[in-house]
Amino acid sequence: MRKRSVLSAAALTLFIGGAWIAYTQAPLPQPLNVEKIREDLYVIIGDGGNVPVYVTPEGLIISDDKFERDHDEILAKIKTFSNLPVKYVLNTHNHGDHTGGNAKMYATAEIIAHRNARDNMVAQKLPGVPRIAFTDETSVTLGGKEVRAKYFGRSHTNGDAVIYYAAARAIHTGDMFLSAADAAPFIDYSSGASAIEWTRTIDKVLQSDWDYDVVVPGHGPPVKKADLAAFRDRFRTMRDRVGGMVHDGRSKDDITKMLVSDFKWNATGGSMRQLDSFIAELKR
Ligand SMILES: [Zn+2]
Repeated sequence: MRKRSVLSAAALTLFIGGAWIAYTQAPLPQPLNVEKIREDLYVIIGDGGNVPVYVTPEGLIISDDKFERDHDEILAKIKTFSNLPVKYVLNTHNHGDHTGGNAKMYATAEIIAHRNARDNMVAQKLPGVPRIAFTDETSVTLGGKEVRAKYFGRSHTNGDAVIYYAAARAIHTGDMFLSAADAAPFIDYSSGASAIEWTRTIDKVLQSDWDYDVVVPGHGPPVKKADLAAFRDRFRTMRDRVGGMVHDGRSKDDITKMLVSDFKWNATGGSMRQLDSFIAELKR
């Protein structure tokens, strides 16, 4: 039982060397880098998912915490710009490359996630389950600075929270958005994903009254709001192509070849392994 749950929880993707690969066993850790977005907002990039770090006078608010193995290096990178402790961690979703450091963060921090992300972590027996869960929207104010987390709907999972660093005019999307142009979206049906709802969910993020121009993706470099819109358009084009082939009765093999040739999907990668479920969703 334990082994099975660990394997399903490890059905993640990692951005390494320009390609999305299936994370079925931990590859070698990748070095972490710090990118400064604003005077008080940094992003730690590398290995697992991106980790925005918001500096307030009373401590740090971060979103996601990569793999457990990255914990010490995350803290070391933070030390290069702040001596304050991490007080809050907002998880964008349940995957272990975004929540793996949760258990160690409990030494100083409170951890918050969407109800469905928390439920997925419990079901998948992932460590560091958040004590606090929200359904629609929540907010943390520390040292006079507010960070909001909001659920806009299903996409990469059924519990993707988008984090809004309001005064910094930046959002963190988690894996709802990947900024590398050739990144294949990972539609994680085992965590309640939906390819049909994915683009509607991004529409809501783009149309929200949040004022932001920097978008920190789940993986890849921080980019602009227009890049999130372009990703949505690429996703919709890809989904409509697959949907058209499904309705024309084309084989899974044909669809696989199309995704490899036209959308640069890895033929044996984690995204492609969701193809049966993807086709099933489009048939419904
Ligand atoms: Zn993910």
